[in-house]
Amino acid sequence: MTQPFHIRKHPSHERAVSASRMLDIPANVQTSLPARSGLTDPFGRRVTYLRVSVTDRCDFRCVYCMAEDMQFLPKRDLLTLEELDRLSSAFVERGVRRLRLTGGEPLVRRNLMQLVRRLSRHLESGALQELTLTTNGSQLAQHAAELADCGVRRINVSLDTMNPERFRQITRRDQFARVMDGIRAAQASGIRIKLNAVALKGVNEFELSEMTRWAHGENMDLTLIETMPLGEIDEDRTDRYLPLSTVRHRLAQEFTLTDLPERTGGPARYVQVEETGGKLGFITPMTHNFCEGCNRVRLTCTGTLYMCLGQEDAADLRSVMRGSESDETLHRAIDEAISRKPKGHDFVIDRTTKRPAVSRHMSVTGG
Ligand code: SAM
Ligand code: SF4
Repeated sequence: MTQPFHIRKHPSHERAVSASRMLDIPANVQTSLPARSGLTDPFGRRVTYLRVSVTDRCDFRCVYCMAEDMQFLPKRDLLTLEELDRLSSAFVERGVRRLRLTGGEPLVRRNLMQLVRRLSRHLESGALQELTLTTNGSQLAQHAAELADCGVRRINVSLDTMNPERFRQITRRDQFARVMDGIRAAQASGIRIKLNAVALKGVNEFELSEMTRWAHGENMDLTLIETMPLGEIDEDRTDRYLPLSTVRHRLAQEFTLTDLPERTGGPARYVQVEETGGKLGFITPMTHNFCEGCNRVRLTCTGTLYMCLGQEDAADLRSVMRGSESDETLHRAIDEAISRKPKGHDFVIDRTTKRPAVSRHMSVTGG
């Protein structure tokens, strides 16, 4: 059973992470987890990485991700913070070692830091290797110090351009300066930042080498992402799709790119940029098959588990969880879902219908 969700405010200078102390959990209550079997799918892949979308809402409206006029889910459909903790912790019990909070924009979820604080007990116990998040950076300045205090060591910040006016066009919001403040605050708190930039034809494509130099100069890695056909948006995706093979070819005219063997179990491939000494990632779901080493599943903010980003098959864990106080049925439902994890995805931007292959938005499944 989960502990009550009482978080005591702590002085910001207090650096040590002690979730049980911060959470007012009596000393005799066991916070470590009982041993349970790990999760292995039918293709022998261990599931060790969970992405959790904590909200579908966002303060930006990036053109490739959302329509300006989005219909968000009614609040009652969302998992509570307690439920997000209970579900995430069930996965940690089953051998998930890395947990990434995402959205929508995770930092616009009210009291998100309570959840982060709560989950940090798994870092403390050693069950979790990494607790991290993907954010647009707009609210990072307020939260950076507490994130660091909770044991968050690295975060991904999405930034597609260095140009404030282009930033406004892409995100439909005039918040470039805030994001830069957020990045600086996170770095000042000792959090390592990786930037994610979506490569967009005719928008930021000729800025990517400058971004690489800047990011690496500021001690941040940079990962480029190809647009994925997820959810209906206002514009035609085929107009913006830029294969990263083209981007890489162009960057290779300017930089010496050395392939790195590093694999994360996801779609990213990395190179070392010899001139800057930094790392550059390429996430190419459209041009590269990355499924064979897939180690991850995704939980939506309504408690639906997607076993693959590019497939519609899913499991409703919210009703299972709400149906029983005990976690036994939940664990059985998780096992059943993992037994259906597909071998791979089937993304395609359909050039005839212009419709996405997968109808849900990235902000629902969590990027
Ligand atoms: N709001 C947070 C952010 O922007 O970092 C977290 C959620 S966002 C959905 C996660 C990542 O997905 C971002 O890096 C964003 O650029 C990327 N993304 C969103 N829609 C996408 C799409 N259709 N294709 C490729 N990447 C996309
Ligand atoms: Fe919001 Fe992130 Fe989607 Fe942009 S990419 S609209 S910041 S959820």
